[in-house]
This record gives sequence, C-alpha cells and structure tokens, in this order.
Amino acid sequence: MCGIVGCVGRDGDTLGTLLSGLDTLEYRGYDSAGVALVNDSLDVVKKAGELDALRAALAGRALDGRVGVGHTRWSTHGPPTDENAHPHVDCTGEVAVVHNGIIENYQTLREELAADGHEFASDTDTEVVPHLVETELAAGADAETAVRAAVDRLEGSFAVAVTVAGVEAVFAARRDSPLVLGVDDDATYLASDVPAFREYTDRVVYLDDGEFARIDADGYAVTGPDGTRHEKPVDTVEWDPEETGKSGYDHYMLKEIHEQPRALRQCLQGRVDELGGRVALDLDADPERVQFVACGTSYHAALYGAALFRAAGVPAGAFYARRGARTLAVTNVVGSTMARECTDALFIRSGPEIGVAASKTFSAQLAALNLLALQAAGPGDTDVRRLVAALRDLPGDVRALLDDTDAAAVAREYVDSDGFFFIGRRLNYPVAMEGALKLKEISYAHAEGFAAGELKHGTLALVTEDTPVIAVVTGDGEAARKTIGNVKEVEARSAPVIAVTDGMSDVERYADQVLDIPDTHPRTAAVLANVQLQLFAYHVADALDRPIDKPRNLAKSVTVE
Ligand code: GLU
Repeated sequence: MCGIVGCVGRDGDTLGTLLSGLDTLEYRGYDSAGVALVNDSLDVVKKAGELDALRAALAGRALDGRVGVGHTRWSTHGPPTDENAHPHVDCTGEVAVVHNGIIENYQTLREELAADGHEFASDTDTEVVPHLVETELAAGADAETAVRAAVDRLEGSFAVAVTVAGVEAVFAARRDSPLVLGVDDDATYLASDVPAFREYTDRVVYLDDGEFARIDADGYAVTGPDGTRHEKPVDTVEWDPEETGKSGYDHYMLKEIHEQPRALRQCLQGRVDELGGRVALDLDADPERVQFVACGTSYHAALYGAALFRAAGVPAGAFYARRGARTLAVTNVVGSTMARECTDALFIRSGPEIGVAASKTFSAQLAALNLLALQAAGPGDTDVRRLVAALRDLPGDVRALLDDTDAAAVAREYVDSDGFFFIGRRLNYPVAMEGALKLKEISYAHAEGFAAGELKHGTLALVTEDTPVIAVVTGDGEAARKTIGNVKEVEARSAPVIAVTDGMSDVERYADQVLDIPDTHPRTAAVLANVQLQLFAYHVADALDRPIDKPRNLAKSVTVE
C-alpha cells in the first residue's frame, strides 16, 4: 500500500524530486515517511506522521547526492514510529532499503542475522533486507550481486528498492507489489506508480513479477530471476499531470464526483452501438458461469454485476477472494498489477482517482458491467434498446443531478445522528451497501446497508428517532412496493426517512426528505441513486470537517491481505 520512489542522475534537486514524488503517492495511504540520499556515505531522514513532518525534519539539512530513494509507509509490522519508518539501514549505515509489502519469512531471517551479530533497530520485517545485503557485501560481493542474493532469500509479496553508499545506482526487485521505471534522457526514476515521476517523463517500463532492475545515470537494465537480460517495452502514458490537481474543488473526492459525466462518457465511448441498440466490446466471452472477485467498493459493483448476469440466465456470484479460472479484470488502471495478471481486461477509463474513497470508478464499473453483461450473457430481463439509450443518456443525467441536488441540505440536517441505515432491493441493494460504506469511510459515522427486508430480522432493534434510514426506491414495481413497506416499518419506530427516488413510486409520501434522481432505466437508476449517496456522504463528512480525501487508517490501494 505504501509508496516507493527512487531516482538517479537528475542533475539538481534529487531530494525535491523524491519529496514531490512522495506527495503524488500520498493517495495510497501512509503513516510515516523517509528518504535516503547517496553520496560517498548515506544520509537517511525518516519520520512518523505526514510528509510535512518529514519536511520539517529535513529543514536546514543539506542533503545532496544524485541518487536517492523515498518511501511512504503503511505499517504492517510494528507501529508507525520514527524507528519503524523506512528507509532501513544495515549495521554499517551504508545500505538503505525501502520496501512495500510483507516479508513472510522475516522472523527466521532475523533470528539467523541476530545470531551472526547483526543489531536491529526496528520492529519491521523490512529491516532484514539491509542486513542480508550487508552480509553479502562483507563476503566480497559487488552491490548488484549482494542485493540479488538478499532478495533471493525473501519469501512473501514485496517491492524493494536498495541503495548502497558510494554506488551511483538504485537496485529494485518486485514480487506481487507494483514497481514502474520512468525513463528520461538525463535521469531514470523508479516508483510504485506513474504519477510519482509523471511531471518529468511520460516514458515508462513496467516491471513484471520476479524481475530485478538496476537504474543508473546511463539508464536501466532489467533482468529475470536467473540474471538473464529482459528487453522491456517502453510505454507512453497519457495522463496529463494537470488531471491530478484539485481544479478548484475543496477535495479530490468532490472533483471526482463531478467528473462522473466525463468518466461515464469515456467508459461507454465506442462500446455502445446506439443505432443497432447493441454493445460492442472487444472481448470474446460466452461464460457458463461467472464469479466476481472483489473487495470494498468493487465488491458492491460485483454484487450489481452478478445480478445482471443472473438476470440473463448465467449463474453468477460475488466473492471476497479466489484463485484460478479464466480471469477478466474490470479496472481503471492500465498497466496495473491486476490488469497485467488477468487473462483479459476491461478498462473503465475513469482517469486518475486520488480520493481514497472510490466515487467515479464505482459509477464507471457499474456502466462497464452493463456492457459486459449484455455482450457476454445477453439482455436477460431487460429491453436492450431502452438500456442502450439509458446508458447513452447517463452522463447527461448525472450532470443534471449534480447541477440540482439537495444532498448538502439533507446531509446537514442529519449530521449529528447516532447511526445511519441504508436499504434497497435488487440492484439497489449494492447501492445501499455502497452508500453505507462511503459514509463510514469519509465521515466516520456508523452506517450499515441492508437488503430492505432484512432490517426487521434484527437490526430494527437499533432503529430510533436518531437513526435516519436512507431508502433507495426506484421504479414502481414489486421491489419498490415492498421497500415502501419496509419504509413504513421504520417510520413506525420514529426513524427519519430519506428517500432516494426517481419519483415513480409514491415513496415520497412516507419520506421526511427526498433526494431526486432523473427518470431512467432501472439499471442506470442504481448508478444515479449512488451519486446522490456519494454527495450525501461527502456533505456529512464535510460538515464534520473530516479529512475527506485521506480518511484515517485507509489506503487507496490495498495490497496486503
Ligand atoms: N511491512 C513493511 C513495514 O511494516 C512495509 C509496509 C508497507 O508496505 O509500507 O514496515
């Protein structure tokens, strides 16, 4: 989850380059940070807390060197303290290591190294690495061979970057955690993700699992586990660095909520044949059974997607984790570990999402899953022409909703509530789940999402006049009628009711507040209802003055099980 940056050969401000790289990786979540600069010796500065704390610790210190590595840590082994922050060094203070992930056999290695007289300064799994490198160097190995030998001893999932005093190079290796090189004429970069060096170059080389890289002033060399040279393709990334700014919004999340019309348009562009009323994905799939595997917000998208496949007669379910089978990644990040490791990928094309809490990527996932289900499984219980038209109108409908929503006013009314319950049926069930998750993530309020009929099987005991119930009711069919029945149940217990509705049922009559969505197809209604819930969560969190883009304890990309 943490961020790794490294650079070699940039004449000028190596430290500044590392720090601005770490700034752009902040979205991944972290609790401490540090840098190492290499010259004849090695300077390491690291601090618990935010990057500002590191900057304060660096103030007045003249660190220079044309080689450096930096790190934002998201603790797994040992609390977030100065000592546990990365980089970690060996006994001589000449080897510095930054690491992302978990070294599973660290305990054995640590005992072995301690028995040989190595002294440890932290609780981390990471610290075994510099000591292993030290041992190899002491036995006469050159820096590259020493790092390779050390990495060979590691078990688990990790990305590491290593520097050695007096050596003008950064060595890196990856197993399961992402690493990417940035290539420029006068410098080479290394990072967990492209934005870290996007300001300097758009040419990138993605490392694959098991690969080892050396970057130095002359460029880079990538080798396989056995040392054979790998010729790697150099990709050009298209994201504009401007896109990662806040563009006048108070938070990235609000900006990203407002980017949804564009994100949806990009997601759907060229994939829907409006005239023919058909979907055209570049995918060859005729599944007998589909299993969605996802976590967090994506799990809610998976519940939605599985329902679409089932409606088309294809058995489908959603799971928190699995192995094997033909795999298709539904993802935003081109070149991401998942995209590269799955058999196929369907990119949702949302543009970078910086806010830790997902917003536009969820909407685009739902849109993409509609395309996928139509293409791979057929229409099921839906009228394809109507759905295709609704998808075409979806970006405009989201725009209309964003331009005219009462979410801020409604949110302010309930800021001090004891807890929130979200209910919905069928496709609105994942929406209710996601609405509750969003509110928890960014406001820290207690919230739970339910299939509407479930509330009375227990949790109704918690419902009072201080626990608003947000009911997602769209259409006027059986699901809407039954959910209105559930609304009455909570109303009878004096709970305030907020209805999110397209106005097709008469749920407004029973609601204290209404958040409207445009009239649309039942499948796209779920997307629009979710946008109201995003705004509701955002405004509750804003009224409570929460750090919306970086909620406590959370990270954008979760790479640790
Ligand atoms: N396991 C390492 C630690 O706890 C690295 C965690 C990370 O990925 O930041 O320090």
